[in-house]
Amino acid sequence: MKGLVAYLVGIALFYSALIQGQINHVGLTKELAASESRLKSIQEFILDEESPSQSTIHLEAYWKLSPAQRFIDGYVKHTFLYDASKGSNIRLLLSDELEVDSVLSSAGISLNFNHNENKLEVDLLQFADGELIQVEIYYHGEPPSSGFGSFEINQSPYGRSYIYTLSEPYGSGDWWPCPVYRNSKIDSIDVFIETPSGMLAAGNGLLQSIDSSGVSWIHHWKHKYRIAPYLISTVVGDYFVRSDTVNLREASLPILDYVYPEENSIWEETDPRFPPMIQFVDSLLLPYPFSNEKYGHAQFPWSGGMEHQTMSSMRNPDETLKIHELAHQWFGNLVTCGSWSDIWLNEGFATYLTAVYFERFRPDEFEKWKKDQKEFILSIPGGSIYVSDTNSVTDIFSGRLSYSKAAMVLHMLRNQIGDVAFFNALRNYLTEFSSDGFAKTVDFVYIVESACSCDLQQFFQNWIFEQGHALVSVNWSQNLDVLEFELTQSTSVNSSDLKILKLPVLLQSDLGDSLIHIDLTESTQTFKMNVDFICTDIIIDPKNDVLVESRKNHVLSADISDDYLLYPNPSSTDVYLISKSGLELPKKVSVYDGNGKLQGEFEVSTDGRVRLENNFSWSQSVSWLVFIIDNKRFSLPYLKNKQTSF
Ligand SMILES: [Zn+2]
Repeated sequence: MKGLVAYLVGIALFYSALIQGQINHVGLTKELAASESRLKSIQEFILDEESPSQSTIHLEAYWKLSPAQRFIDGYVKHTFLYDASKGSNIRLLLSDELEVDSVLSSAGISLNFNHNENKLEVDLLQFADGELIQVEIYYHGEPPSSGFGSFEINQSPYGRSYIYTLSEPYGSGDWWPCPVYRNSKIDSIDVFIETPSGMLAAGNGLLQSIDSSGVSWIHHWKHKYRIAPYLISTVVGDYFVRSDTVNLREASLPILDYVYPEENSIWEETDPRFPPMIQFVDSLLLPYPFSNEKYGHAQFPWSGGMEHQTMSSMRNPDETLKIHELAHQWFGNLVTCGSWSDIWLNEGFATYLTAVYFERFRPDEFEKWKKDQKEFILSIPGGSIYVSDTNSVTDIFSGRLSYSKAAMVLHMLRNQIGDVAFFNALRNYLTEFSSDGFAKTVDFVYIVESACSCDLQQFFQNWIFEQGHALVSVNWSQNLDVLEFELTQSTSVNSSDLKILKLPVLLQSDLGDSLIHIDLTESTQTFKMNVDFICTDIIIDPKNDVLVESRKNHVLSADISDDYLLYPNPSSTDVYLISKSGLELPKKVSVYDGNGKLQGEFEVSTDGRVRLENNFSWSQSVSWLVFIIDNKRFSLPYLKNKQTSF
């Protein structure tokens, strides 16, 4: 039941206008990139590359939290099968700002531990290799504030305080003892959050219970799917809970939104757009990955959104934010990028899925999205999608490269191999790597090549690993019915190879436009074609589908006079020859067909009327009227009007 008293009408109207109006796609992409980038310490990067420690198969956490105080008090219990080959300890990340009170085994025995340099190492020497072990860590303290805030207290616009967490990529250790190794997922979690009575805590998975019998409330959230540590999250504060269900392919899925009480009406207004959104992605890709549980949004006082598993955090119910974080449930959460160099496998896909959603539901917005993204990407000549320097957070979460360019390259890939192969590849990628939970760029390349049975090494080399975009110059001319154009390619970055392009080219004419696709593989290629129209212009990439900057350095115009005009043109019978610049009219004209063969000569009246005979046998639809005035030759294209000819 979603019917609620609408208030804060002004704000509701503002958001309504925002949602109905045009979207600033680039601005939103930049905000998303900024919101999802978190500062990482050098030490954390080093840990990123380390060999794995023990793999937690189940995590139980108990956190006592209140928005009134920046403080955490509780425990975390790691359950794992002891693998002695990974060392005689379990290594975890935990900020030195937090104090460890004790570490216990499941039998209640104190375990030796060492906590410094933001790492916690617990001694496992007393256990046997292969043994199922539970290590329970009790700790408390004031979590540090790193990056944009892995653990924060902030106020909503209405003055209420909220705790929220934002751990990507390594902020988890700021507030709980988490695995050091990036590429390990936890099979399932049980999280208990103790809050002041009356306050709510949102979390991953399903809410099992709220124990409101004591002075505090204890909220139990359970998530039974594999989860990367940085996707474990909670928010605590005054919330209004909105609930609904949506029918998906394999489940009737609960939708659960924790929203500011003051903004409930805004959510109510935008909610109807969400079921078609999740149904679309669910049907396009694999079924929603966490279909036995729920999906939801937790509103939090921070600009942007974050794809916490089954419960995305976001500042407001913005349509683009919603679809972006929803797409991450597949690309990012079900299958996570295997290293920070491959971040585009998370961000580029979530960004492109947003565009595909617009293409389906709001085609005009899709066209605008492509135009905006292309302008943004081409505004700077360099930069590769693959991140070579993962010490640079700016590089990893580059809005222009990891988000926008990656999304446009996916769009180009789709045009290169076709919709069927492209979307099959996306589904195959998710299927293939969902069990491991991680994938790298080479994995995706392999999947796509298998789906299209084609060699895409050069495409990915051009567009993912190398920098820059394509520059294409066009020269063109038309001689009667032969249209000839020459395309010359270079790149915006000298060191890059020429780009492999499937280039859309629009041939404009008075009879209408023709779109052709050219496979551009050489630095210079010449094309000749017979046409039955007079080409008036050639437009490279008319619908912004390719990362190409086009230049018409020199247009070789056809031998067409600007001094005279034929009207009407096309025509089926007679036409008038009009002098545009005051030159005299000829007494007669010669007519040639498209092959340059003389068809006849015709008188011109003093009023310019050219008496073309109705029974004249036109061999081609394009003809030329040629005449000479003062020893100067003038040519005018004449088009036979097919509709009215007889
Ligand atoms: Zn994202």
